[in-house]
Amino acid sequence: MPTKPSSVELADTVSDLMNGIAGWLLIGLGTAAFLSGLGGAIQYAGTTGMVVPVVVLLFSFLFLTSGVLVNPRLRRRLDRRHEVSRFGRVQSVDSGVLSESESRVESCTNCGSTMRQGLVRRYREEYTAAGIPLWTLSENCNFYCSSCATEELPGIPPTNPEDDPVSERVVTEVE
Ligand SMILES: [Zn+2]
Repeated sequence: MPTKPSSVELADTVSDLMNGIAGWLLIGLGTAAFLSGLGGAIQYAGTTGMVVPVVVLLFSFLFLTSGVLVNPRLRRRLDRRHEVSRFGRVQSVDSGVLSESESRVESCTNCGSTMRQGLVRRYREEYTAAGIPLWTLSENCNFYCSSCATEELPGIPPTNPEDDPVSERVVTEVE
């Protein structure tokens, strides 16, 4: 994976942050619109005055949906969703690549050697509703150096960091 110039990385972080702020603003606006629309709809129920609050309600759904979609963190969460029928605790494992460009030093879970690149397996236990992870109950990562990853875990195909978003998630979600 080519190392991004730091200016691009900074721009990415800033745009993530801006999208996050915009997302939360939209969600706030949507919630406010939803509440006032709902109040109005109840107040004017059955009369022609009900049209305005109903339109407000429709807009609030629009705000809420775009707020979720524009928010990078919520979007990542949606990308990680499970089957719609999943409710409650869901355990999941994803694997990704730790690349040298992340300049992290980890030790291999299997042989204990220090490694700067290799395989990452991330175990998560999340509380989900309709497949969408609401909050993470536990999360831990196992790291495997390149030789252990190929010898001990033959079931895992060698992954290409370019098309595997997990290694990026590892960086972006650690706070
Ligand atoms: Zn190892």
